[in-house]
Amino acid sequence: MTKFDELGIKEEILKALDELGFEEAFPIQEACVPVLLSARDVIGQAHTGSGKTAAFSLSMLQNITPKRGIQGMVLAPTRELAMQISGEITKFGKYTGIKVATIYGGQGMGIQLDALDKGVEIVVATPGRLIDHLKRGSIELKDIEHVVLDEADTMLDMGFIDDIQFILDLTPEERTMSLFSATMPTEILRLSEEYLKNPKQFLLDADDLSGEGIDQAYLVIKDRDKFDFLIDFIKKVKGQVIVFCSTKYRTRDVAKFLHQEKFDAVAIEGDMSQHRREQAMAKFRSGKADILVATDVASRGIDVPRVELVINYDVPNQDMVYFHRIGRTARAGAKGRAITFVSYSSVGDWNLIKRQIKTEIKDLNKEMGIEIAIPDPLKRQIPSRRYGGQERSSYSRGSRYGGYGKQDRRRSDDRGRDRKKFGDRGRRNPYGGRSRW
Ligand code: ADP
Ligand code: MG
Repeated sequence: MTKFDELGIKEEILKALDELGFEEAFPIQEACVPVLLSARDVIGQAHTGSGKTAAFSLSMLQNITPKRGIQGMVLAPTRELAMQISGEITKFGKYTGIKVATIYGGQGMGIQLDALDKGVEIVVATPGRLIDHLKRGSIELKDIEHVVLDEADTMLDMGFIDDIQFILDLTPEERTMSLFSATMPTEILRLSEEYLKNPKQFLLDADDLSGEGIDQAYLVIKDRDKFDFLIDFIKKVKGQVIVFCSTKYRTRDVAKFLHQEKFDAVAIEGDMSQHRREQAMAKFRSGKADILVATDVASRGIDVPRVELVINYDVPNQDMVYFHRIGRTARAGAKGRAITFVSYSSVGDWNLIKRQIKTEIKDLNKEMGIEIAIPDPLKRQIPSRRYGGQERSSYSRGSRYGGYGKQDRRRSDDRGRDRKKFGDRGRRNPYGGRSRW
């Protein structure tokens, strides 16, 4: 392994890394940092929790001159992730004099305008709110030197692509650009050619979406039995737990039940006020809450080292989501566990995901002696899972899940405003709402 000073990182940053206990560079950092420092575009893929944030942040910090305008920009899909990245960059840049602003929906414009007025060199943003600032002229991108799309496959997916295009059009031609994610599907790599110039690709474990260091298991049960099993599993855990649900309603219900059972649980879903989202996340990060119940708004990028167990209370709607969800545990080389609850009606969906899991996955029905009693009509539906004549590809979103239509996802970081505009329409059908997160 390489020390950070061998990568050409400057003294001020090394000092901060030392204080954070970063002794040696992780593989993705070792690969990407020198290339980004030479201002070449990069595509970086490495499994969840492998240190991608530092891989792009360190070179960005190194090449920035304080008080010369916004030179670095990181775009992320969710508010919580933007805040986390911002926090990391601030820690790495503690001795550089470089200032970072976090730009995201749900927070008052005033706070962000004040931060920008003081002068910042890096913005970490969700696309919707950044565009608001660009339109009112409170952020300019003409001095940008390095653009990062974190969770790049999501950022270039149909829900965000128009926003990304709008933003990139305002940045200088000669910018350095890098894309990072644990999942880099070939269609995204192809699409990236439009945005990157001769990128150096580091696909460290692209063929191996195994969930390294994660002990994976599943349990097929009746939907109504899930809560009892949840309690049983949670009681046996010493560290923190994240419970992922398929809808906001489920998230709220599960959190409510956990409170009734006297667990220290917090919830995060897209309909909550930003203030409550931040409070919940802060409680979980600080360890004051043991359990986070969340929609997929927390499935990407969130790094809370003490998370020991991820429970998929509901089967996720595609394999990518599965790998990102379980990747909230086993961070930075630690070990973790993931258990997926499969209701009888989700067996077909689960089988599609299970096929993508290359490592051993435990069958808890066998291990715990729990019989599966799938009613006949359901059994008949299971083998022929076809979507519009095609088998569902791992990257498409079937509309039967109320997938994310273009309109749904466009402002996924600014749902509050959407709700005002569209009234309460999205609330009636848990699967067909405007936003599932
Ligand atoms: P990813 O984006 O690849 O999922 P993160 O950037 O969130 O991963 O990093 C995961 C964890 O690893 C974080 O808690 C981070 O502080 C830690 N980490 C990153 N790089 C190092 C390093 N070189 N040494 C020690 N810990 C590190
Ligand atoms: Mg990350």
